[in-house]
Amino acid sequence: MTKRRVAVIAGAGPAGLTAAWELLARTDIVPIVLEATEATGGIAQTFEYKGNRIDIGGHRFFSKNQRVMDWWFSILPRQGAPAADDGARKHEVEFAGDVTVRRLTRDATGATRVIEERRAAPDPEREDAVMLQRPRLSRIYWRENFFPYPLGITLLVAWRLGLVNTALIALSYLKARLFLRRDETYLDAFFANRFGERLYETFFRGYTEKVWGVPCSQIRADWGAQRIKGLSLTRAVSHAVRDLLSSDFEKHQRERETSLITRFFYPKLGPGQIWEIVARQVADAGGTVRHGAAVTGVTLDGDRVSRVTVRDARTGEVEEIACDYFFSTMPVRELVSMCRPAPAPRVHEVASGLRYRDFLTVGLLLRRLHVRERGREPQAMVGDNWIYVQDESVDVGRIQVFNNWSPYLVADPENTVWIGLEYFVDESDALWRARDADLIAQAKRELEQIGVALPADVLDGCVLRMPKAYPAYFGTYDQLGVVRDWVRGIPNLFCIGRNGMHRYNNQDHSMLTAMLAVDNIIAGRSDDSNLWDVNLEMVYQEE
Ligand SMILES: Cc1cc2nc3c(=O)[nH]c(=O)nc-3n(C[C@H](O)[C@H](O)[C@H](O)COP(=O)(O)OP(=O)(O)OC[C@H]3O[C@@H](n4cnc5c(N)ncnc54)[C@H](O)[C@@H]3O)c2cc1C
Repeated sequence: MTKRRVAVIAGAGPAGLTAAWELLARTDIVPIVLEATEATGGIAQTFEYKGNRIDIGGHRFFSKNQRVMDWWFSILPRQGAPAADDGARKHEVEFAGDVTVRRLTRDATGATRVIEERRAAPDPEREDAVMLQRPRLSRIYWRENFFPYPLGITLLVAWRLGLVNTALIALSYLKARLFLRRDETYLDAFFANRFGERLYETFFRGYTEKVWGVPCSQIRADWGAQRIKGLSLTRAVSHAVRDLLSSDFEKHQRERETSLITRFFYPKLGPGQIWEIVARQVADAGGTVRHGAAVTGVTLDGDRVSRVTVRDARTGEVEEIACDYFFSTMPVRELVSMCRPAPAPRVHEVASGLRYRDFLTVGLLLRRLHVRERGREPQAMVGDNWIYVQDESVDVGRIQVFNNWSPYLVADPENTVWIGLEYFVDESDALWRARDADLIAQAKRELEQIGVALPADVLDGCVLRMPKAYPAYFGTYDQLGVVRDWVRGIPNLFCIGRNGMHRYNNQDHSMLTAMLAVDNIIAGRSDDSNLWDVNLEMVYQEE
């Protein structure tokens, strides 16, 4: 019997698990997934606290890539009936009729099979394996006013900004257009050219600098270009003018505000649910997914990875696993530092200069919200999935309202509101190292200060830390080509995913790089440029 080839995969996040699933479904290569933590799904895991679930950052399932969309729906089929809150909240949902579900398994001979089944779309009130369709609402909360995100210019927005302020914003914008900054290498110029200094200062600078912890003048504009999806003040204003000239102004304004509400897909129990299913299928079909197993060394024999060293977190035991292929989703900085023999000093220099931003969520369970909005009674609940906090006097950057992602994330969605306050930090910051109780106390204080909830309504809380959530577009990012060229010289090493490529990839792009790596193995293609081309179109990204 011929020995089957082995692929070691570092990381059980979306990219690593997609690679494992695809290898089993389409090749005879056996995947061994090594995951340093006890969680499944990486950044896209779902963390559970007393029956309430946290999604780190809020993961919309949305892609322009049909291959990825079909893949998601074949694991978690779309809903065929209303979710618990769809009726009461008048959600517009396109219910699926029949759906096709795929599952990896092994037959009696031990061979891996993909079973395809056609069935009626699931009812989320009866089954868990369901992809929901959810409305998207996200707003900027600033000085007790809500502004649509992405920012649209409507009369209401101008009113909330104040008419003098709006006029100053318009003047500042005109000035920016007349005196365009030629050099758009960095974000400050990129934003100012599109929105004018004043609007940039009001709505973009504070949040962006909270996210990255450095001034916009040090962040390369690539990040802005990936996020801003063709948005500019010219476009926003031209919409507003079109509304003004229309015979039914009010109707158009209403439509303009609601056009900002779109829909996305979302697993009933949060993003981690899909990755837990995939991990189970990988194990059922003959692959391995090991948790608490950190890759600590990568040995090269000539131009190939020959073995990987892994350390068991529970026993401390260290072992070596021989491999024919190595897929890395771990941070580029770590990968390069653990390769033996060590890569050239220049590769080291670039890899060790890569920077990351870490992410901390304080989950709070409340009886109700108490959202202050000018001219209105305080609201016990809002429809937002997440709210941007531009206010620079508080550390919180964004607030997730998990009830609105899926009512099934919350143990008692009728009587409690489950939210996540998001803080962008560095592992060296005092905030990252603060005690959980202190972080919860700070979160309560900040909620009251900005006018979102009262401390007396907080019933419980927890803290979740996610290191290296954001690969930064500063540090040595602009020299990443040096690392890429080094990876190209090692044909059985596949750097995939988000931190694996040091790219601001969403799940879809992270998965696509895994799929393409498997395509390349099947096609015998050694040129990996198609992997690095994913997500270069710079049109759509997460907010
Ligand atoms: C705030 C925020 C919001 C987001 N919103 C969205 C969204 O709305 N939609 C969307 O599609 N995407 C979103 N994303 C992006 C999405 O989370 C990532 O694209 C995706 O998780 C990347 O998958 P990955 O497998 O490449 O990496 P990761 O998810 O980072 O997984 C890598 C895994 O490798 C493990 N690992 C690291 N080092 C080692 C080692 N030495 N040994 C073994 N294991 C190791 C880690 O523990 C981790 O589990 C968001 C991300 C953030 C931070």
